[in-house]
Amino acid sequence: MLSKGTKLYSIIRMKCPRCQEGSFFNGHPYILSTMGKVKDRCSKCNIKFSIEPSFYQGSYYVVYALGVILFVAVSVLKLIFYPKVGPGMLLTAIFISLLVLSPLMYALSKIIWANFFIKYEKGILK
Ligand SMILES: [Zn+2]
Repeated sequence: MLSKGTKLYSIIRMKCPRCQEGSFFNGHPYILSTMGKVKDRCSKCNIKFSIEPSFYQGSYYVVYALGVILFVAVSVLKLIFYPKVGPGMLLTAIFISLLVLSPLMYALSKIIWANFFIKYEKGILK
């Protein structure tokens, strides 16, 4: 399922969308000094990750969608496991999960956005 050449491979492993070998980010999403910092170029295939100025502003739409997905997921989990708990607890659970997952969602939004525009090229590294 998660084979090389799919966009999901690039997104989950946070690899270059074009060659899927070089890393996309400068550091781990949860290290605050490098949080969400995209490398200028791929270390393997040398593609420029920022296609145009302010390229990653479009990733705000992706992070919004990820936030909605998280909201729905937390709401469904609350309905399944704690059906009698009130809406205040749901809001608290959503707030805490947003707080914990926001660095990951920020990084995911950027690599998902890049995968919209950069296609995988098989055999680009020889
Ligand atoms: Zn690459």
